[in-house]
Amino acid sequence: MPAASHEHLREALEAKKAELMARLERISANLRRGYEADSKERAKQLEDNEVVDALGNEARAEIAKISAALRRLEAGEYGLCTECGLPIEDGRLEVYPYADECIECAEFDERRKARQ
Ligand SMILES: [Zn+2]
Repeated sequence: MPAASHEHLREALEAKKAELMARLERISANLRRGYEADSKERAKQLEDNEVVDALGNEARAEIAKISAALRRLEAGEYGLCTECGLPIEDGRLEVYPYADECIECAEFDERRKARQ
């Protein structure tokens, strides 16, 4: 891959990461809002917080993947499957630029998870 497109990719990944960090910040701010004294309200808030927390975890997981992709980019290993070492399909990287596995390995993982 030419250096220019790497630079573009790095910028796109950094931008996505910044966006997720901002989202995470909003999610944490929501979680930090004090609980209502009323116990009924409180129960509702706890429920909401669980949803908010799940969203936060999702964002954190995505940030971790982007960071890993940026590290692979630095190391010149970007676009290689971390599982089997083969190049990840271009089409897959286009829709999912921080993919760390090729489609075969990702599908294998999905099936393994589904069986658990
Ligand atoms: Zn693979």
